Amino acid sequence: MSSVDNVMDKLVSLAKRRGFVFQSSEIYGGLGSVWDYGPLGVELKKNIKERWWRAMVHAREDIEGLDAAILMHPKVWEATGHVAGFTDPLVDCKHCKNRFRADDPRLKGTPGQPDAQCPVCGTRGSLTAPRQFNLMFKTFMGPVEEQAAVIFLRPETAQGIYVNYLNVLQSSRQKIPFGIAQIGKAFRNEITPGNFTFRTREFEQMEMQFFVKPGTEGEWFEFWRAERMKWLVALGIRADKLRFHQHTPKELAHYAKEAYDIEYEFPFGWHEFEGIHNRTDFDLTRHQQFSGKKLEYLDTATNERYVPYVIETSAGADRTALVVLCDAYAEEDVEGEKRVVLRFQPSLAPLKAAVFPLVNKDGMPELARRLYDRLRRHFNVFYDDGGSIGRRYRRQDEAGTPFGITVDGQSTQDQTVTVRDRDTLQQVRVASDRLTDYLTEKLAS
Ligand code: ATP
Repeated sequence: MSSVDNVMDKLVSLAKRRGFVFQSSEIYGGLGSVWDYGPLGVELKKNIKERWWRAMVHAREDIEGLDAAILMHPKVWEATGHVAGFTDPLVDCKHCKNRFRADDPRLKGTPGQPDAQCPVCGTRGSLTAPRQFNLMFKTFMGPVEEQAAVIFLRPETAQGIYVNYLNVLQSSRQKIPFGIAQIGKAFRNEITPGNFTFRTREFEQMEMQFFVKPGTEGEWFEFWRAERMKWLVALGIRADKLRFHQHTPKELAHYAKEAYDIEYEFPFGWHEFEGIHNRTDFDLTRHQQFSGKKLEYLDTATNERYVPYVIETSAGADRTALVVLCDAYAEEDVEGEKRVVLRFQPSLAPLKAAVFPLVNKDGMPELARRLYDRLRRHFNVFYDDGGSIGRRYRRQDEAGTPFGITVDGQSTQDQTVTVRDRDTLQQVRVASDRLTDYLTEKLAS
């Protein structure tokens, strides 16, 4: 087994054991590349989304929030070019029935020709010539399964923003430049998904479209590129594991004039988890043509009319959560014993603290429970009275809980408790009535 598999295997197993991520419908054998977030995972992802929303909506006067529906008018996807062109070239093995993307580096020879070899079963000449496969999930609206009622599960959240551009502009009284942000589910019938939650068929996006005056898009593009990287570093992600990748003209999507991916060095290599795109006026112009509704902006100061240009920041919530998990994972020796720890930045940690009575007698559980009840009003806190204190600490290290609070013999005498720091392993005594303030301060830093 390679070391890459090893790290990912350990992470997948930890994620399942500790309740971060489970395979969808596991008791039925699982559903390919669809994942469920368990009690700790849902908190982690929620914390990431909240940080994003705070930075992109609440902290900015010039960005409004939106929550558009997943189901949209089918014409939307004609206008955007998704019906015609949101495709990947697909190759089938006629022998073992496996499917591959035509650009899968494991494929040898030319698919469709006798020299081509299936990377799974090894048969020669069994691979079909590539054919285009649309990645959008189709479904039917209404009781009759007829062509007219075919609709799609949205493959990106951005279009919900474009079709509401005028509604938001008029109701919020924003002026250009301004943005609209949204977090929501998107669906893509990926051909070769994999690498845990990296490429899945159902995922969440955190997207923001910033509408600007044509001619100013270059500056705004640079602004948002820098801003997004700053945000990621502020989440505690190691800067040397992050980099930009500029799209070459060949890589650029049909709607984009300029694009950068933000990549992270996962255990399986450098890969994109966020993109900053100059989408020009492509989407609004197309929606104008297909809907027959004018989507121009009137600049009342200059009396100019124009279709705005758009700078998009598009991040996957699940991929960002995977980045945070990979980046936090560490194994280390502590006094001759191996410890696995998730070093989440405290603001992202699913649990902020755990409360332990040292032993289950002498008034310790009662005091610990009281503390736990008090802290719970402010933070997501865990109570654990099972097993040795060392084991309880290690369980919380694996969950990434930044603080362990132990009620011991001294606590019942003088109302102080020990607070153990997950990263430094140092313990300090804190008066129990100061604990809420103490944690509030620590969690903010
Ligand atoms: P990729 O090249 O990996 O397929 P993409 O370039 O198609 O990604 P975009 O369409 O730019 O991705 O989507 C923006 C973000 O949405 C990506 O950076 C990623 O974080 C997330 N995303 C896209 N597809 C998936 C997927 N199948 N599973 C999980 N996240 C995804």
